[in-house]
Amino acid sequence: MAKEKILVVEDEEDIRELLRYNLSREGYQVAGAASGEEALEIAGRLQPDLVLLDLMLPGVDGLEVCRRLKQDDRTRDLAIVMLTAKGEEADIVAGLELGADDYITKPFSPRILVARLRAVLRRRKTEPPPATAPIRIHELIIHPGRYEVLLEGRPLDLTATEFRLLHLLACRPGWVFTRSQIVNAIHGEDYPVSERSVDVQIVNLRKKLGSMGNHLETVRGVGYRFRE
Ligand code: CA
Repeated sequence: MAKEKILVVEDEEDIRELLRYNLSREGYQVAGAASGEEALEIAGRLQPDLVLLDLMLPGVDGLEVCRRLKQDDRTRDLAIVMLTAKGEEADIVAGLELGADDYITKPFSPRILVARLRAVLRRRKTEPPPATAPIRIHELIIHPGRYEVLLEGRPLDLTATEFRLLHLLACRPGWVFTRSQIVNAIHGEDYPVSERSVDVQIVNLRKKLGSMGNHLETVRGVGYRFRE
């Protein structure tokens, strides 16, 4: 199998080299870029599988790099994982809404970073289940075709919105969804769903899910995910 290619975009040389060293050791083919301009140039030419993108870059910043990569046919489908500092939740939300796959907060442990990148690359190869396929996670079974959820064999009494919300998150375990992505995905034609009401729906859903409720995780300042 061909080595997967990762482009590391980071202006701080020490961090870039640390990342390059750790990822090469895991068998990836690694390229480095020290600025947004360089990142865009290399990404177009190299067509990496994944871009590890520091958001704080001089000149063209990380979010703008993300936007341009997603607008370019040659780079639209590559995976993007943002590198961010603590307190950059607003940028994380903006990046996820631009199409980034995940983010890692500095300071990071190289071992955990490698595991996260591997998970993103794996997730991108496995298509999400078809919209009608049942999803089974531990004792929870979601039947989209029947609009039915079973917990330990017993049907749960969910509203249509709660059902859509649960189905959305459970289709992509581990994936963080921002409130606005959730609203866009589950809004009904008959009634509006606001970003605030997503929080309320989550609280209700957690209660109804009982022992599985803690799988619905709040990602502070960013959104929600279904823990694997
Ligand atoms: Ca930086």
